[in-house]
Amino acid sequence: MKSLLEVEALGRTFGSGKRTLQAVKGVTFSLAPGEIVAVVGESGSGKSTLARLILRLLSPTQGQMRLEGRDVFRIPLRAYWRMVQAVFQDPYSSFNQFYSVRRLLQKSLGLLGPLSSQEREARIRTALQSVGLEPEGILGKYPHQLSGGQRQRVMIARAIMLRPRLLITDEPTSALDASLRATVLNLLKDLRQEQGTSIIFITHDIGQAYYLSDRILVMHQGEVVEEGPVERVVEQSQHPYTKRLLSDVP
Ligand code: ADP
Ligand code: MG
Repeated sequence: MKSLLEVEALGRTFGSGKRTLQAVKGVTFSLAPGEIVAVVGESGSGKSTLARLILRLLSPTQGQMRLEGRDVFRIPLRAYWRMVQAVFQDPYSSFNQFYSVRRLLQKSLGLLGPLSSQEREARIRTALQSVGLEPEGILGKYPHQLSGGQRQRVMIARAIMLRPRLLITDEPTSALDASLRATVLNLLKDLRQEQGTSIIFITHDIGQAYYLSDRILVMHQGEVVEEGPVERVVEQSQHPYTKRLLSDVP
């Protein structure tokens, strides 16, 4: 099957001289349309840096990426972000404090170019409903008036409203309680099922990776140290680091 995303020898270095840190090193993988790949690894292993590189919030110091066969860096950013969206761990920091939910969502819809006001309103309502939020109750609210779970679901609604081909989620459930965590994981499953969205699901929780993904990449000190179908990685891990990660599962 043709790949949606190909990442080749991607790397990112921070600092210089003695203080150089290679946060991501030689990462290579590809993602098929509709595939869910989990990226697991402990804190500091380079997962969020990888997410920011793929999202083009950060430039790589090495490597290449292709989306549907096209060199990613030749795609204008706005067009790229119509296809590639993300949901981060801490939705509070992604919110403009002075924007109501309605304004925040309208602003993101701007990426799609001019839409009629009916079309905009319909997209916003559908997206909120699909994450289990009642539009009437939430559209006029400001970030500080929302619970953590509501904020996270608004951010997911914002991403899926654009119907991206690829969604990157970076620890999307770590601020949520257990029941909301399950809601969000199931939302991501449904999204793939209904829209064929590919997902890069970043987590330090290998249990969530097992539940949701088709394939796992294990990152350790900036490198992918193991890769394979979920069952293989979980049941017959090859790399000592993966074994250690698995032994931490309660
Ligand atoms: P993870 O998401 O797996 O916890 P990160 O990608 O956030 O890991 O971080 C990987 C490493 O890169 C860490 O050592 C972190 O301190 C470092 N790092 C991340 N962003 C920067 C930055 N902007 N400047 C310097 N170092 C950074
Ligand atoms: Mg991180």
